[in-house]
Amino acid sequence: MTIGAFTAATDTGRKRRRNEDAYVVEPPLFAVADGMGGAQAGEVASRLAAAALSDTDSGSLSGTERVTALFQEANRRVYERSATDPAVSGMGTTMTVALVEGDEVVIGHVGDSRAYRLRDGRIEQLTDDHSLVNELIKSGKLSPEEAETHPQRAVITRALGTDPDVDVDAFAVSAQEGDVFLICSDGLTTMLDDEHILALLESNLDDLPKAGKALVAAANRSGGEDNITVVAFQIAAPPPEPDEDVGETLTLPAVDPELEDTIVGGPAPDAEAAVAHGPTPAAARMRLALTMIGLLALAAILLVWGLVR
Ligand code: MG
Repeated sequence: MTIGAFTAATDTGRKRRRNEDAYVVEPPLFAVADGMGGAQAGEVASRLAAAALSDTDSGSLSGTERVTALFQEANRRVYERSATDPAVSGMGTTMTVALVEGDEVVIGHVGDSRAYRLRDGRIEQLTDDHSLVNELIKSGKLSPEEAETHPQRAVITRALGTDPDVDVDAFAVSAQEGDVFLICSDGLTTMLDDEHILALLESNLDDLPKAGKALVAAANRSGGEDNITVVAFQIAAPPPEPDEDVGETLTLPAVDPELEDTIVGGPAPDAEAAVAHGPTPAAARMRLALTMIGLLALAAILLVWGLVR
């Protein structure tokens, strides 16, 4: 699979003074981390985790093993700093990662940031929130509607950096041309429901950076109660075969059928320009020459035919 357009947008929102979210956009790796802790600790945690993704050498590991190893390294760094620096004691962070590998996307997840896949006009949440309200919903003690206004809706049940080891959700999902993958912090999803997110992505599919900005703006219009971070990427068509015949390539964008006739005999040096901008003088001369050759050949055939009769 090839990665097409991708984008990232982050905003402090309208209620918080600092932005404690961090993101990573290093194709084929994408991630969002949402830090928590007193003072500036949340920022420290999310940035340490993001940096671990960027500069950890995963060696020969791939797939869910690679993603899990990245989480363990990020967890180790945040935990060690938290244990040795009283100013950031107890800090932690969420982290949601998407790694494009072959025809799959490997998802790694801890906390309540989310990954979604948009396909054929539908949106699917790929991750399961590690949050108190989600636990209550799953056990039937709370309805999704009640969860939206629950006073403890920001409480997460699993975080990176708060313990020496972390339990990581790691799994692979299929990817196909046209899919859009979205990773975001809860500052987006507590402000906008899935249908709203889908509508904004769908209406900006040809311009992913615009879609990212539209999502952040909409979350702010809905209150902007938390930091908002959006990372999105699109799966594109695979690149053309490298050993493709040059002559064939030139005839492919045949916008002018008349012109195409003139370049069938072999690649014309100006054919590409001619296809894009209309016939150039050189192409017109070639067309005239080929027409003349054709007429001469026809005359010769008629002559020979007349002689043998
Ligand atoms: Mg948040």
